[in-house]
Amino acid sequence: MKAVSLENGNISVREVPTPVPRETEALVKVIKAGICNTDLELVKGYMDFEGILGHEFVGQVVESSEKEWVGKRVVGEINIPCGSCEICARGDPKHCPLRKVLGIHQKDGVFAEYVTLPRENLHHLPSVVSDMEGVFVEPLAASIAVFDQICLDHQNDVLVLGDGKLGLLIAQVMQTRSPNIFCVGRHPHKLVLLQKRGIQTALNAREWDRKFDFVIEATGVPKGIEDALCFVKSKGKIIAKSTFHGLAKIDFSAFVVNEIQLIGSRCGSFAKALEFLEKESIELEEMVNADFALEEAQRAFDRAKNPEVIKVLLTP
Ligand SMILES: [Zn+2]
Ligand SMILES: [Zn+2]
Repeated sequence: MKAVSLENGNISVREVPTPVPRETEALVKVIKAGICNTDLELVKGYMDFEGILGHEFVGQVVESSEKEWVGKRVVGEINIPCGSCEICARGDPKHCPLRKVLGIHQKDGVFAEYVTLPRENLHHLPSVVSDMEGVFVEPLAASIAVFDQICLDHQNDVLVLGDGKLGLLIAQVMQTRSPNIFCVGRHPHKLVLLQKRGIQTALNAREWDRKFDFVIEATGVPKGIEDALCFVKSKGKIIAKSTFHGLAKIDFSAFVVNEIQLIGSRCGSFAKALEFLEKESIELEEMVNADFALEEAQRAFDRAKNPEVIKVLLTP
């Protein structure tokens, strides 16, 4: 099969053996996949990953020992826990220290014609959700995960930093709990998407001359956390979403003096994301700028690197 492989910081499309599913796994034919900022960071050296990239996808099960799965259109959770350590036993597989992560850590990803995944990672995609929307289930789940970490009600104000795909999703998701959502980005044409939904936007948070109960940092760059610290109220909370290659510089004392809580936030529940998609209206297809054939992965990655772009898809 064809696959997009990362080796020595270079990506290439190559012919590789089609993976063979184990007893507990399914073989999934990839229908559509999305390039995410994490993929761009992996190419720069984040996680020292080598292998087939990609973790956001919609696919169709073509092989499974549980026959009811065959033919189902699915999305898949990206963490593959060991299933036998103390943390797995406690019911927290996303933090299993031995976990593999699809297209990120010790597990080949979805920028390929086929991928294998444990059946318990798979979720049936309801027919009301299009292939293009389905690619967003993983980042949407990560956005909704914030609700498990902070108690947000309509009186709170929230500043979202970043107008990449994740920032735009998070702002829309937060708006379902509070009308006081603000988003700062660097690209007016991306922020329009939020303005249309009544979310206040700016190119610089200083414009508002105020601070916020919650600041969600989704800039994808090390400097984001510094900005978050400038705009959070005393005793407020910063929710950190960015992962990147390299280190961030922060004024540590400011956390202590202003009693700020810093909360790291990663993946979320696919079940909740799918439920959310069926209930709420959220702008997804408008975020897609381009859809490339898998063979054109290099061009697709170049396009995804363009700061003006929100989402680039790959179709095997
Ligand atoms: Zn991602
Ligand atoms: Zn484990």
